[in-house]
Amino acid sequence: MLPVALRIALFVLIAVGLPTMDVRAADKLRVVATTTDLKALTDVVGGDLVDVDALARGNQNAHDLEVRPSLMVKVRRADVLVMNGLELDQWAEVVVQGANNPKVIPGAPGRVDASQGLPVLEVPTTRVDRSMGDVHPVGNPHYTLDPGMAPIITANILEGLARAAPQHRATFERNRKEFLGRLEQSMAQWTSLVAPSRGTRVVVDHNMWVYFLTRFGLVQAGSIEERPGIPPTPGHLTKLITIIKDERIKVILTAPWTDQKLAERIAQETGGKVVLMASGVGAVKGTDSYLDMIDYNVKAVVQALR
Ligand SMILES: [Zn+2]
Repeated sequence: MLPVALRIALFVLIAVGLPTMDVRAADKLRVVATTTDLKALTDVVGGDLVDVDALARGNQNAHDLEVRPSLMVKVRRADVLVMNGLELDQWAEVVVQGANNPKVIPGAPGRVDASQGLPVLEVPTTRVDRSMGDVHPVGNPHYTLDPGMAPIITANILEGLARAAPQHRATFERNRKEFLGRLEQSMAQWTSLVAPSRGTRVVVDHNMWVYFLTRFGLVQAGSIEERPGIPPTPGHLTKLITIIKDERIKVILTAPWTDQKLAERIAQETGGKVVLMASGVGAVKGTDSYLDMIDYNVKAVVQALR
């Protein structure tokens, strides 16, 4: 037999605690986002009214996530699924099939494509054959790294949340406006921080910084990968090293999931510097919100260019 005090405690927990928690959880809109950036932006729009989970971690390569049953379990219970689109998170369609949740199948009201209406960069002018390994076949999908895209992204998310919970539209709109106000203030600071370095050329590892660089007036001079998702040939590396040396490029931007050793080797050979960037919210320490992630990246680049 359990001691009386413990029995009472258990009774109270079952009779009072659990049902209360259940009701609260049931009231919230259940949202799944494929990436931590989209989770963070959904959190700011949804506030207390949503419970958001991400499928990929911030330090993972969101191009290439292993589809596991645990991901299907998350999506099975979702009211809304927020996807990056532009074929970054194509794997999520397999998760959706396995989840068997009609609310978030393609075309369903619970489905959000966060890229809708965005000015997409690097849209190929000729057909790119995915079998050749290029992971950006419909344009560059890394738009969340540019804070200037957040107004459009959050507008898409807002519409999705409001379709699932129309009674809360006004709250979602208020939350979004409040966030965009904070973003605008930060944007002014970031822009003036980068201003002295405008026009500076940098090299990247995976071609994922073009939106970020363009926003702040920096220029991508080359990438370590030969094409997005395709490792460099020796010939490509030789060319890249020549560019870095000739142009005295100081900085190579990398992400936690890319080949750090290769970037370090190139940096050693050229006198450049490797800068580990937050490739998403939570990718490195101190980047647990969207604004913190952008702030980290701006300061990392500015510091390295000094
Ligand atoms: Zn990519």
